[in-house]
Amino acid sequence: MSRLERIHDYLELNRRDPEYNRFFISYIFLFFALGFLAVFALIEIFLLDDRHWALILALLALICSGTIYYLFTTKDIGAASHLTTAILAVFLLTQGAMGQAHESTFMMAAIFPGVALFLLGHRRGALYVLLFFATFGLLFWWNMTVSVGPVSQVDVAINTILTPVIITLQLFFYEIARKGANDENARLVEYLEILSSKDGLTGLWNRRLSDGFLEQEIARSQRQGNRFSVAILDIDHFKKVNDAYGHAEGDTVLKEIAQEFRTIVRVQDKVGRWGGEEFIVICSDTGIEDAVALFNRIRARIEGHDFSNGVNVTVSIGVAEYRASDSPTTLAARADKALYHAKQHGRNRVCTYKQFIEGRV
Ligand code: GH3
Ligand code: MG
Ligand code: MG
Repeated sequence: MSRLERIHDYLELNRRDPEYNRFFISYIFLFFALGFLAVFALIEIFLLDDRHWALILALLALICSGTIYYLFTTKDIGAASHLTTAILAVFLLTQGAMGQAHESTFMMAAIFPGVALFLLGHRRGALYVLLFFATFGLLFWWNMTVSVGPVSQVDVAINTILTPVIITLQLFFYEIARKGANDENARLVEYLEILSSKDGLTGLWNRRLSDGFLEQEIARSQRQGNRFSVAILDIDHFKKVNDAYGHAEGDTVLKEIAQEFRTIVRVQDKVGRWGGEEFIVICSDTGIEDAVALFNRIRARIEGHDFSNGVNVTVSIGVAEYRASDSPTTLAARADKALYHAKQHGRNRVCTYKQFIEGRV
């Protein structure tokens, strides 16, 4: 499997819906809150005999169940996010308003920013947090005289330990989500880079990049005065291969030819897929004589190659050397004329533009 295919598979199979995390966190929070509220409602009724507080907890538990059901049936994460945040706010504010601002209230309040920001996004989340803490502060200040009695060491210990634990947990999950998003972006960028530069079938440079390399090489030649040559290769009677063996076998031939090119040419030479069954090779620092010798070797290699599907093919090759004042188009056009000349003279051969002009093989 090529790198492109691997990345593609990863993105296809594992790419998470951006909403996935919000659903996940909402469900976790709502189920946790439901259990917590239900258990404490029972404790308040049977152990502490605080029926008002128990009623409020039971009501919030009911709203929690409703929200879970709503989220489950409608998948409306927007409304569910508001509801979830509101349930938490009402719980914490009621705790403050009812004189329950005791040892665990600070710890509970520390949950709020994380939940609100995560579920509602940074703008709305920040607004909710601001409103919440303004109200919470007022209620707390108002109730302070009635509810704050002597603070036991256990209370202090609970607050001192649990508040940083909650903050750490929130940051921990935030960091996981942030890293996940970053990794996925990196993979996406890599995928797009490959996709926009490589040919999907053969893994060679695509036409756009091949054009770019031609321009680059011309610019380098103009600066440094080095020679370079370009060849266009075309498979002979490829239509017949497709007709006789089918398109899939034709594709296999294209892939194996591409692999063959990769092993023959030097690393600094650029091989691209120029068209359907046409390839371009740009040979840096190579005059026409050396290029002809190289492409004769390539032609012979392909003629003698044992294709895995038993098909035999040959290629015709047109070679042209860069001339000062060439553009990518004029240079490729000369290689193309040389290729045409090779096709005209029996195929399975290498021809130069000069041979085309002089009408000889
Ligand atoms: P010639 O020797 O004159 O080049 O003959 P040819 O049959 O190779 O040339 P022609 O241009 O008539 O046909 C090219 C064929 O290449 C036709 C097309 O179906 C095939 N081809 C182009 N791209 C692909 C591809 O990606 N996969 C396969 N299997 N075939 C392709
Ligand atoms: Mg062709
Ligand atoms: Mg052809």
